Formats: sequence, C-alpha cells, structure tokens
Amino acid sequence: MKKFFRYTGIIVATLVIVALAYTYISFNYYSPEDPEVEIDRTKLAYYQDTWEECRDAFKSQAHAMETRFDSVIIFTRSVESKTEKDLAIDFCYIPANDTTEKLVMICSGTHGIEGFVGSAVQQQLMSEFFQPEMLANTGVLLVHGLNAWGFKNLRRFTENNVDLNRNYSADESLFETRNDGFTALYDMLTPKGELNLNSIGNKFFMVTAINQIARKGMPALLQAFAQGQYDYQEGIYFGGNDFEPQVKIMSEVLTDIATPYSTLLNLDLHTGFGERGELHLFPNPIDDPELKAKTEAVFEGYEIDWGDSDNFYTVHGQFVEYIGDLFPDKTSIPMLMEFGTLNTGSTVGAVKSAHISIVENQGAHYGYKSEKDSLKALAGYYEMFYPPSERWRTNALTVSLEMMEDIWANFQDLE
Ligand SMILES: [Zn+2]
Repeated sequence: MKKFFRYTGIIVATLVIVALAYTYISFNYYSPEDPEVEIDRTKLAYYQDTWEECRDAFKSQAHAMETRFDSVIIFTRSVESKTEKDLAIDFCYIPANDTTEKLVMICSGTHGIEGFVGSAVQQQLMSEFFQPEMLANTGVLLVHGLNAWGFKNLRRFTENNVDLNRNYSADESLFETRNDGFTALYDMLTPKGELNLNSIGNKFFMVTAINQIARKGMPALLQAFAQGQYDYQEGIYFGGNDFEPQVKIMSEVLTDIATPYSTLLNLDLHTGFGERGELHLFPNPIDDPELKAKTEAVFEGYEIDWGDSDNFYTVHGQFVEYIGDLFPDKTSIPMLMEFGTLNTGSTVGAVKSAHISIVENQGAHYGYKSEKDSLKALAGYYEMFYPPSERWRTNALTVSLEMMEDIWANFQDLE
C-alpha cells in the first residue's frame, strides 16, 4: 500500500512538473507564425521608425497628391501637452468633386504606437489607391496620429494614461461607467513597483491566468479586461475622468468637414487584437437594423466580428461611434479595423497579450528593475502593436489594400 502511494505521488508530481514546464515554455517562448507571403520592399518603404518620420512621410504623400487632384487640403491641429512641445495631429482632406454625398474618414494612431501601421496604410492609399475619378461624389479625410503623445512615446495611451478609444462620448456620464469585472481583477492587472520580468509572478503569469480563466471563463475575463474602466488612472484601459483634447479637436474638424456630406464611413485603424496576419473588422454591436444592414453591405465578402461574439468584446467611449452621435441625422458607419498580431483567439495568445499590456503599464508607471527589463517590455509591446517581421508588415499592406478596393466599391453602391 505504501508503495502504491509512493508511486502515485511520484506520478502526480511528475505530471505537475510536466504541466508547469509546458505552461512555462509555451508562454515564455511564444512566437506565432507569420503569414506565408513574399517580402515586398516597396511596401516596407511605407513603414517608419519614429512618429516624426511617419508625419513627414504622411505629409509628403499628401503633397504628392496635389499634382493629381484639383484640391488637397493639408492641415495640422496642435495637441496640448504638459511634457511635449509640438505635438500635432495631421490631416489630409480631398473634397468630393461634384456632390457632397459620401465621406470616407480613415484614422490612424488612436492608440499611439498602433499608428505606425495605420500611417503605413494611409501612405499606401495616398500613393497607390486614390484617383481623382473616384471622388465624384465621395470625399476623403485622413487623420494621422490621433494620439500623438502615445505615438511619439511608443505607448497606446495618452500622457494621462487614457485609452483614447474609451474616452469619446457626447456626455460626461461616460466617466461614471463602472466595470466591476476589472475591479475584481485589479491586483492581477495592476501590479505595483519596479518591473522585474524574471519574477516568479511574471515567469508563471500563465498559471495565474489559467486559474482565473477556469473560474470566470475567457469571454467574461476578456470583457472585464478590455471594455474600458474609469476608476483607476494607473490601470490599463483607463477611459479617463475627463475628455482628452482630441475629443474637442475631432468634433471641430468633423463639424467643419463632414457637415455637407450625408453618408459617412468612419474607419479607425488598429493593431494587436485577433489572428496574426488577418485584418479583422471589429465593431461594437449595432442596434439600429438599417445601419447594421448598411454596415454589412459595405463590408460584404468579409467577416464582421461583432463585439458580442465570444472572442471579442464591446467597448465604451469608442471614437468612430461618437461620430454617429455628433451627426444624428446622417448615416454614419463606424468600423474598427484591427490587424491581428499574437493570435488572441488562442488561450496562450490572449494571456500573452494581456501580460504584455500589464507589464508595459507597470514599467511606465513604476520604472524597471534593469535596462534589460525595460528593453524586453518594449520588445513585447512592439511584437503586439508594431511587429518587426517583414512578412507581417508586407502582408498588412497587401490585405488592407485589397480590402479597401472592395469596401470602396461597396460604399459607392450604397443607396
Ligand atoms: Zn487599438
């Protein structure tokens, strides 16, 4: 009998060690595969390394269009900052030629660092896609680097740690939104003190996460994690206690430009969520059946991941939805476009993404134990929001151009 218990003990201990080792390796050496495409140097040229370089490239593509189009309006709005001088959002507006029927807005950098890819998409569209004959009844407004501070400082958030895509609303009751799920997970999501990526807690974060997933289920966790929270400024996905300057800036710019148009298509370019190499369409659920039908018509041929499906989440304070509130008498189609990077549909991908966000936020608030920790946290952040892989980057521009061709044609056909 004693022997039996001893053997069982050894087997259980071995299984636990194997499980822990497997979890440890799958989490700490996670590296999802790139899409199988050939690297295209002409596409890579649309990617830059700093916010300043992206701005310059965006503006030079905008100016290059002046020779082909009757009217290209390039302008800048400065963004106030406590720590940075010369922060600005750049705009390029090409009015419709004949009738102001439709307007397509394409925004980059709502989440700071995600702007590198968004900027590349915009540059490619200006250089290769837009043609004067396409603009008889449709205008184009490109918004470059909405969260300029985050873009410049390689963070998703503003200098107030605000997630701009949780900060848009027509009224301030947004800031009274409670997120009890986040509060319940506060300690796990908001570690304090200098970041040490070699701590047991970080190395075995997957174990903590699996425990939470087992108790609450992935959809509930994802929702609590990412919907936005308005209680903890030091936390991730903080939507603010007040409006960031971009709410006023975009309200004014859109009132100026969008007012004459009757149908708006508002595209906001993001990275980080979804399957690596795929471009997801990821709107909040739309209640109005007519607007929903129009949205489906514009994106026909593509799968829409409505925010209430299991692998996605709904969000408070979204920028593109706010545009609809700004113009209640217009048809305003909101769409968040998300380039996947870390396969968040898989458990390890979702946990890895959460961990990257948590430790980056910890380091930004409390500093790093060593320079190595700082570099490693930043490398994770890049992997999630601006992957260095040349295959990934080539693919992002290929798929976005293809999709834009289809969306544009569908939007033209929209009654
Ligand atoms: Zn984003």
